[in-house]
Amino acid sequence: MHLFEYPLCAGCGVQYDLMPADQSPPACLHCLTAFRAEDAAKQIARWTTLRNISIEDRRNIFETDVWTDPDTLTLSTQPALGTEKRAILLRTPLGSVLWDCMGYFDEATACSIEQRKHSQVSSDTPALVAIVLSHPRHQGSVMEWAQRLQVPIYVHADDQCWLQRSDSPWIHAWHGSTLTLLDGQITILRMPVVLASADQPLLAYSILHWERNESQSSLLLTGDAISVNRADGTLELFAREVESGCLDSKTYTEAVRCLWHLLEPLSFDRLLSAQPGGTLQQDAKHAVRQACSAVFVDARQPLHASS
Ligand SMILES: [Zn+2]
Repeated sequence: MHLFEYPLCAGCGVQYDLMPADQSPPACLHCLTAFRAEDAAKQIARWTTLRNISIEDRRNIFETDVWTDPDTLTLSTQPALGTEKRAILLRTPLGSVLWDCMGYFDEATACSIEQRKHSQVSSDTPALVAIVLSHPRHQGSVMEWAQRLQVPIYVHADDQCWLQRSDSPWIHAWHGSTLTLLDGQITILRMPVVLASADQPLLAYSILHWERNESQSSLLLTGDAISVNRADGTLELFAREVESGCLDSKTYTEAVRCLWHLLEPLSFDRLLSAQPGGTLQQDAKHAVRQACSAVFVDARQPLHASS
């Protein structure tokens, strides 16, 4: 059977393994853990395939913020497939890195990535050198992307069990707290898993830091760990988990502390989160510190642990 016939969740865009007798999976684990119970009930019964959504006049749109950074491109699917989200393509002279993935994929998307190389990249360097996932909920149909573009998928070893298709030779599980790519220009930082409960293991984020030269703003890509409120530019921490009600205040506070400890040593001015439009163009580190501090003021605790 063609890969495009694999079941794909219409709620979050995650593609799943084939089931016996071509049945759909009973539920989407990512929708179950990411939405409120009533929303999950609507999402989990909706299955489609890449082949089906390919005939719905859907496409992936690349956008470049040419005024501030022509090498940071965002990708979104229009019309959106389920929850609105975006992937981000970082272009460097050593090749491009795709941060997160989406459910919808087609040949036009692959050709766009191949054609949008950095202007200084050598002709024998592949256009795309890595796909990196911030969180398993952003895996989309990543196996299709990797297979077509012949590129490794970097996923933290702790997240590998949440990949819904395990049949790809392109999966590269990484271990530990950091992964460096492109001669150290890009660092992936792993946030410690804070939730101890076995049925709530999805508070586990990777964050990308792109260290750049003095004339270009260093960049932080945060997935859903830090979201930018499009209405007023404020930051929300672990908004998906807070919204789904799976975080008690103690665990939330501890997660925020871990997040700040991870980010405090880094220098960054710009921040892009997973939702379309979720971009801070400047002073991002100051904004992150303020958001983390506010949580600790509410909890009447210091931001730094006393030990
Ligand atoms: Zn889903």
